[in-house]
Amino acid sequence: MPGTELFGDEERKEVMDVLNTGVLFRYNHDAQRQGHWKAKDFEAEIATFTGAKHALAVSSGSTAVSTMLAACGIGYGDHVIVPPFTFVATIEAVLWAGAIPVFAEIDETLCLSAEGIREAITPKTKAVLLVHMCGASADLDGILAVCKEKGILLIEDTAQALGATYKGKHLGLYGKMGSFSFDFFKINTCGEGGVIISDDEQLVRTAEYISDHGHTHVGDNRGMELHPVLGTNFRIGEINAAIGLAQARKLPYILSQQRKHKAVIQERLARIPGLAFRKQCDDAGDSATFFHLLMPNEATARQAVKLLGEAGIGVGYWYDNMYHYIKQWDQVKNLSMPFRMVAHELGLPQDLKTLKFPKSDAVMCRLISFNIRVTWTEAELDAFLSKMEGAIRKAMEGFRLR
Ligand SMILES: *Cc1c(COP(=O)(O)O)cnc(C)c1O
Repeated sequence: MPGTELFGDEERKEVMDVLNTGVLFRYNHDAQRQGHWKAKDFEAEIATFTGAKHALAVSSGSTAVSTMLAACGIGYGDHVIVPPFTFVATIEAVLWAGAIPVFAEIDETLCLSAEGIREAITPKTKAVLLVHMCGASADLDGILAVCKEKGILLIEDTAQALGATYKGKHLGLYGKMGSFSFDFFKINTCGEGGVIISDDEQLVRTAEYISDHGHTHVGDNRGMELHPVLGTNFRIGEINAAIGLAQARKLPYILSQQRKHKAVIQERLARIPGLAFRKQCDDAGDSATFFHLLMPNEATARQAVKLLGEAGIGVGYWYDNMYHYIKQWDQVKNLSMPFRMVAHELGLPQDLKTLKFPKSDAVMCRLISFNIRVTWTEAELDAFLSKMEGAIRKAMEGFRLR
């Protein structure tokens, strides 16, 4: 949560601009707002930073995914390939769209693999909703090749990977559209917010209309605007956008600190025999928000988590975590909703209650992750790594004795 570590005067100043005018709405009221257009500035900041031709800010990372799916024409009964390791919002967005999620295997990149996608394709597959999990890229070359060969759209849920690149280009620009989240737990936060990026102007315009009841935002008379499509309210407010703007300006600093710390961590932990790391498709492009260890097996991973906890180091063990891996998603497996969805009507092509993910399980049960802090001093990082190295070596030793 790097953005929350650096929350300060810059955010307060941007918010005060909005509070001083009282225009909390992102559109219109041109005279009253005294030149402050925080949502527009936030969009421009993210577009410039990522190199995207267009950016659209919305109310959350979740509504950003819903808006992208809608703009890309994903709807009734379309099969959308999704990963079993993601924040569940990805899956919810597909279901809300009236589309059908089809799960494919991940690999040591922690993302969908090209092979996994290929195996999950059905005659109704319309899109891959690719999640660049935990701040780094999936195997885009392989995945783009499968999508091209099969005529399937690539859409990127880049919620966790703002600032990450693949071969020099920002994630989110490889698919038709990409989206970022600015919730409290991401690299930048604005409270609640999301941004969609794309080089396709028409798609972004459509997304803009959808995010605001079809409004075209032409002129300064909201009542007289045309409505080329239906939509809903997925707008971001000016206060959230103001915070996002201040946070986005901190991205270069955040990334450089995280990458610096990652190099130290990697150098240190690479000394432990038998310990592996997340497979990086573009190591230099990793946003380095997380560090990922792959232990030799499930037993050593569980032992390491236990020893790390005893040493006062909190780490993530996603395999057991209640909301990032399909193993625990009973609400998805049961399609638990108080109303009848398209997915109930058409049924899912996979029986999620019995479906196994052997390849994903084999990665997930060995995976331990921790946050790379922006504000670590050298001494703090060193002390952290000493404890970490000790606990991991001990966990591995115990394993070798058995
Ligand atoms: C956080 C997240 C979202 C949802 O973003 P919110 O801003 O919390 O709505 C969607 N997808 C992924 C992969 C996420 O990590």
